[in-house]
Parts: sequence; structure tokens; C-alpha cells
Amino acid sequence: MLKRIVFIALAALTAVPAAAQPDGEKQRPAFALTYDDGPGAITEDLLKLLESRKAKATFFMLGSAVRANPEMTKKVHAAGHLIANHTDAHRNWFRIGKGADREQVLASEVKKAEEAIVKATGERPKILRMPNGYTAPWLREAVKKLGYRAANWSYGSDWTKTPEDKMTAEYVKAVRAGNVLLLHDGGGRSREKTLRITAAILDEAARLGLEPVRLDVLLK
Ligand SMILES: [Zn+2]
Repeated sequence: MLKRIVFIALAALTAVPAAAQPDGEKQRPAFALTYDDGPGAITEDLLKLLESRKAKATFFMLGSAVRANPEMTKKVHAAGHLIANHTDAHRNWFRIGKGADREQVLASEVKKAEEAIVKATGERPKILRMPNGYTAPWLREAVKKLGYRAANWSYGSDWTKTPEDKMTAEYVKAVRAGNVLLLHDGGGRSREKTLRITAAILDEAARLGLEPVRLDVLLK
């Protein structure tokens, strides 16, 4: 027997402006700032900047960087930001992902970083971002088995050779509800421009009435 499928066009009816929502506690539109590869040399200044703007962010930390600076890890956690896992040693997953032992290497890289983070903060991270945004079907399954949720980003370019003014304009353009922005606060090279770009992003967010929230809040 053929089933009859009825399509109902609701689009025009479901667009309710935020102000007209019945439940009093209305949530402001939000986006997420995420910082990878730290903690690093600028992390302390970044915390001050975020604090002064009442912004919350997510830090994807490397186990190796956490062991090198457990005090800064603790400070980031104490300031109310979310600490997430970025593996231990930022290895080349486009190569490891082709190997037969990739799941074991992943488990080891994730657990080592997790141990360092738990030791510094007392809290187990639940979100994972792979180095260089590596992803694959096997990886998504393996990440779930390890008890993590994988999270990449909507916009990021601070590792490219784009001139800073142009780069800043691109980040500012990406400040939109639901977006996840990626910058770096660690990883060797000077990261001073992360502070300047973050300030520009927060100016734009204030102008648009967008709240910078932790990734666990945005993904809820
Ligand atoms: Zn990274």
C-alpha cells in the first residue's frame, strides 16, 4: 500500500521574534570564542581581557602545555572558562589516521591530556577538538567511545599569512549567532594578535547584542 506523504509548509508561521517569546527568561543570541594549543605566553593577558568584557570562552588545551603550565590551567578554570581536550602532543593525524593502530594512539593521546587537565583542575573535559581539525568516520566513532563530543569551528584563520587588518575584518564578519570562532593562545609563535583580534570580536558582539558563551552552553 502506498502511504500518502503530506508536506506542511510552516516556515512563515514559525518565525517568532525573540521579544514575543512567551517564557519570560529570554536567552540572548550567543556565539563561542575558542582558543587552541594553550596555555601559552598570552593566556594570562587573554584572561584579563575576557574578564574585563565579561566574556566566557573555551580553551582547547594540549596535555603537554598543561603539564608545562598547570598554574595557568588552574587560573583559566577558576575564571569560569571551559577547558576542553586538544590531545596531548598535537601530532599529525592525517598520517596517524592511515595506520592500523590509530584507535590506540588516539586513546593514549586523549587520556594523557585528560589526566593532565584533571590533575590541574579537578574536572574531566568532555569536548575534544583534534589537531588541525582532523576528522573521519572512524574518528567520530572512537571519540564517542572515549566519552567525548567532537567540536570543530565555524571560522578561524589566525594561522594563515593573511595581513592582520584583513584577518581582523574576517573575524569580525564571522561574529554571528551560533558561530564558533577559533583563535590560538599557545603553540610557540607569538600570539599577541589573538588579543587584538579578540578585542575587535568583542566590540562587534557588543554592537550586535551577541553574548560570548562557553561551548557547552552554545551546544546545549
Ligand atoms: Zn591546535
